[in-house]
Amino acid sequence: MPGNLTLETLSKAVETGEIDTVIVAAVDMQGRLVGKRFHAAHFISEGWHETHCCNYLLTVDMEMFTVPGYETASWEKGYGDYIMKPDLDTLRRVPWLEGTALVLCDLLDHDTHEEVPQSPRAILKKQVARARAMGFEPMMATELEFYVFENSYEAIRDKGTSNLAPISAYNEDYHIFQTTKEEPLMRALRNGLYGAGIPVENTKGEADAGQAEINVRYLDAMSTADNHVIVKNATKEIAHAMGKSVTFMAKYDTAKGGSSSHVHQSLWTMDGKPAFRDEKDERGMSDLMKHYLAGQLAYARETTLFLAPYVNSYKRFCVGMFAPTKAVWSCDNRTAGYRICGDNTKAVRIECRIGGADLNPYLAQAALLAAGLDGIENKLELEPELRGDMYQLDGIREIPKTLREAADLTESSEAMRAALGDNVVEHYVRAARWEIEEADRVVTDYELHRGLERA
Ligand code: ADP
Repeated sequence: MPGNLTLETLSKAVETGEIDTVIVAAVDMQGRLVGKRFHAAHFISEGWHETHCCNYLLTVDMEMFTVPGYETASWEKGYGDYIMKPDLDTLRRVPWLEGTALVLCDLLDHDTHEEVPQSPRAILKKQVARARAMGFEPMMATELEFYVFENSYEAIRDKGTSNLAPISAYNEDYHIFQTTKEEPLMRALRNGLYGAGIPVENTKGEADAGQAEINVRYLDAMSTADNHVIVKNATKEIAHAMGKSVTFMAKYDTAKGGSSSHVHQSLWTMDGKPAFRDEKDERGMSDLMKHYLAGQLAYARETTLFLAPYVNSYKRFCVGMFAPTKAVWSCDNRTAGYRICGDNTKAVRIECRIGGADLNPYLAQAALLAAGLDGIENKLELEPELRGDMYQLDGIREIPKTLREAADLTESSEAMRAALGDNVVEHYVRAARWEIEEADRVVTDYELHRGLERA
């Protein structure tokens, strides 16, 4: 069970006064938790069954603007309701919020009670079911990087974003002393998440001033995505309680390293054996793994939209800063978009390094799975491994350079349409186009600074 409460143990905790509040949350297109806080007594008597939310939640942008052009919800359709159906397997304690538990929900159509196909959880569920029908359990991990600031979001709003104060003064990659200074926050985060049933492996300093990373143990794909969105929310909540703030933007400062969310992937047989392992192969990679990787490479440019969903996401892909620019594979090589980790061991796996910390983990994992499973089904042949510095190799597969390019590639992808469904592809291409339209329309500080006097 991914959560650590049942309705029964929750009831007991409510009786003793230990828990009085249940957060009932769905996941939106941006990968944020959206929902309501229930009085725990009401959740136990009725709320656990279902509640409702406005169906605009799967069409709004970061600002909650009612974006036009979606099939699922609009002013013309009157913005009705979705059913929020708690997935009681995800019911858990939230140790960092007083007296609080949390449950994640599936989104169902109000009339048919079918899952809404465009909902992130439904999209991933479909690909996991496809893998299981082929006899494999996808096991995944999504490492998360972020920056920590000394000042709160409120203080930053008051004084302006030029006043961001990173928690450290220097690149703290693997540093123990600097991260000791950050322990009040990071220890609370590790222990809080652990108490919420999330198997945190470790936290570490990352490769720029104020940057951190958190790793959660690999699990089945759905648990990993659920954990990912809870980890992000928890990091913000715990930092906020300490008067600090964090950002998961892919690139918050031109001069600094971006924040990634590498996706580690392996397939296991249904009786728990690593299906990517073949001791006889020189790299220890099974044919199954090679086909899966070949699929990911064949559709790498078409899946990028789901790994890099904003205009800002593409600013992370720059030479020499550990974010990849080429969608090729290589063993234990951090310059490649697809890095093989643990070669010749039981933990042999694919680390897709393309995703930023701003990705929606359900969509990212679903798109990667869709591509990999297609590779297995069609027995795609793996191209030769490349070695050396991929940044400097010309004429090899590039990661799309802009959201515009990535959206066009996904829109015309027959493979993504076949695997995810036309309705899903069109929905998320619309989301991307809106981001582009807005970025095209809005005058930025950068333009003002350059042009004000000299244009
Ligand atoms: P590195 O720091 O080299 O990227 P780590 O040892 O920190 O690698 O592992 C990164 C992530 O990979 C961890 O979250 C771990 O749980 C996950 N992982 C380990 N083995 C597997 C596997 N077989 N399949 C998927 N993920 C895995």
